[in-house]
Amino acid sequence: MHTIENAYGGKKIASASTRFASVFNPATGEATARLPLSTIDEVNAAVAAAKAAAESWGTTPPMKRVAPMFRFKDLLQKNADKIARAISAEHGKTHPDALGELQRGLEVVDFACGIPHLLKGEFSRNIGPDIDCWSDRQPLGVVAGITPFNFPAMVPMWMFPVAVACGNTFVLKPSERDPSAPMLIWELFQEAGFPDGVLNVVHGDKTAVDALLDHPDIKAISFVGSTPVAEYIYTLGAAAGKRVQALGGAKNHMIVMPDADMDKAVDALMGAGYGSAGERCMAISVAVPVGKRTADRLVEALAPRVRALKVAPATDPESEMGPVVTADAKRKIAGLIDRGVTEGADLVVDGRGLVLQGYENGYFLGGTLFDRVTPDMTIYKTEIFGPVLSVVRAESYDEAANLVNSHEYGNGTAIFTRDGDTARAFADRIEVGMVGINVPIPVPVAYHSFGGWKRSLFGDHAIYGPEGVRFYTRIKTVTARWPTGIRSGAEFNFTGRS
Ligand code: NAD
Repeated sequence: MHTIENAYGGKKIASASTRFASVFNPATGEATARLPLSTIDEVNAAVAAAKAAAESWGTTPPMKRVAPMFRFKDLLQKNADKIARAISAEHGKTHPDALGELQRGLEVVDFACGIPHLLKGEFSRNIGPDIDCWSDRQPLGVVAGITPFNFPAMVPMWMFPVAVACGNTFVLKPSERDPSAPMLIWELFQEAGFPDGVLNVVHGDKTAVDALLDHPDIKAISFVGSTPVAEYIYTLGAAAGKRVQALGGAKNHMIVMPDADMDKAVDALMGAGYGSAGERCMAISVAVPVGKRTADRLVEALAPRVRALKVAPATDPESEMGPVVTADAKRKIAGLIDRGVTEGADLVVDGRGLVLQGYENGYFLGGTLFDRVTPDMTIYKTEIFGPVLSVVRAESYDEAANLVNSHEYGNGTAIFTRDGDTARAFADRIEVGMVGINVPIPVPVAYHSFGGWKRSLFGDHAIYGPEGVRFYTRIKTVTARWPTGIRSGAEFNFTGRS
């Protein structure tokens, strides 16, 4: 079993920590690596490496900064298969799904290649006699990213390509569960020719995260993970004077109107509910059919499809859904299914107790479908983060939309309908950050920005795209008059531009 290393200042460095966590293959339950839970000194060393690189990187011309970004993109593409295998081996998702995650990350790298265009700023000539004014966006310095297990490649790539192209240096604290993909990505980043210290990786748990939150040299923190931790990071980071964007959990609803194309709605729910074993922050976990007939048709069409889901390890090319990430996650999800039953929901398909021959110690659960879930139930209120879809029946569009608006989370939502008026009203008024119309998982492309509302995002900026550029830069505005334009005599009025 190998031991994962940290990587800062251009080198891999074995941790001196006495605390370690195990990394597991969720398909077999075997421990495959030891992950150091780094010490505060190691976090400080990673930040120092980033700080040492920050000044010269921040003043490197933007076009030169993105030159290695093109090579990085090329290297990621060439190594996509290897990275995807590393993701599947520690996360459990299928190979095509892992490749898909990498592709979405690559699109942000692609966006970052063009960032010089977005740093141009604005210029106004002659705002007063012989006076010009310009604004530009400058880097913050050293920034940090703390990422979740469910997208070990994509979520770090939502952050550091944008931060680095904007002229910052970056310290990444990846998830403890699946550290190998971020390490492969760090190696390719170095190979692409970025200077040492521009991207640094330090592994760990709360101790490492707290050290980043406390560190005076960290100017901004990007966090993606569960809502309680997002709120903690936002509160502490903001109190320490840092800029913080903290993206949290979700409970994404998909409304199915009576006029929806039912086959397409069912296909969409299968992919969005059970893809990646439901471990996506944009997974649909609640289906809201409008009207009894719509609900009956939907459940009738879904149930056999959920029963027929091919649950298998990622190494099986036929697999539609792999295991969940840890034994703990499996226990928690199964416990919530128990709770749904005791609270009176109608369990149509039960995924508990699934055992795969040859993988008896794997963390597998079958697809689970509940009908007649009500808003007071735990399975409705909680983010289950597993392959469990709840059907909540609504009498009308208004009732369905109110459900979405009343939920504490506001990450993503979708409506399936053929009616333009309903779709437009939904897009206009729903209180959720990312909205799909006949699109179940409306993750914005890299040149838009990703972010939820309500308790799905703490902070003022969404992530990547133009919002990412705003987050990782600060505006500076210069007003200039050359000596020939300066009139004699003091000027006491406020405009200063006469
Ligand atoms: P998590 O909150 O447990 O962990 C995320 C990160 O925070 C990890 O790096 C972890 O080491 C660190 N962390 C955990 N507990 C901590 C603590 N007490 N103090 C300080 N740091 C701590 O999340 P997870 O289980 O890895 O990921 C799943 C969650 O992430 C889900 O809730 C999912 O919805 C959310 N998520 C959200 C988005 C989004 O864009 N909104 C995207 C992906 C995942």
